[in-house]
Amino acid sequence: MGIEETLGNNVITTSLDKLVNWSRSRSLWPMTFGLACCAIEMMATGAARFDLDRFGILFRASPRQSDLIVIAGTVTRKMLPVIQTVYEQMPEPRYVIAMGACACSGGIFDTYSTVQGVDEALPVDVYIPGCPPRPEGLLYGFMKLQEKIMAEQNSFGAVIGIGDRIDGV
Ligand code: SF4
Repeated sequence: MGIEETLGNNVITTSLDKLVNWSRSRSLWPMTFGLACCAIEMMATGAARFDLDRFGILFRASPRQSDLIVIAGTVTRKMLPVIQTVYEQMPEPRYVIAMGACACSGGIFDTYSTVQGVDEALPVDVYIPGCPPRPEGLLYGFMKLQEKIMAEQNSFGAVIGIGDRIDGV
């Protein structure tokens, strides 16, 4: 049962949800984690020309300090358990962006050794097509994720232990 059901869907609970969603969406901390060529574009996005810091997006070196993982590159069957372990070490709420054709669908690698889309194993929030997507594409993906977080419900209730957070669409 969410806080909205306890207190009603009133101006206080929805405003508190907005406050939590706003602070979360404006301080995304992605894992420093890349798999293949798409990771080079991700690094370029984080560098001075595109400047992710202005969105409050700062790469972190530990999954325990991260709330977002960008799957940037080809996901091999051998690598998949490692990705799952890293994902499980991230605290809730956590988000996943599949960056590039390989992460979304296996891309050109229609082979036994390549995972045909990381959504086989992780709940992907945003898909970014392209081989590779340009930094502008990744920036747009981050903004779509921010919109999705802003649409979440019962965020404040989940923080204080009343009910679960309801995903945005
Ligand atoms: S989508 Fe293209 S650029 Fe990205 S990892 Fe796959 S082959 Fe490399």
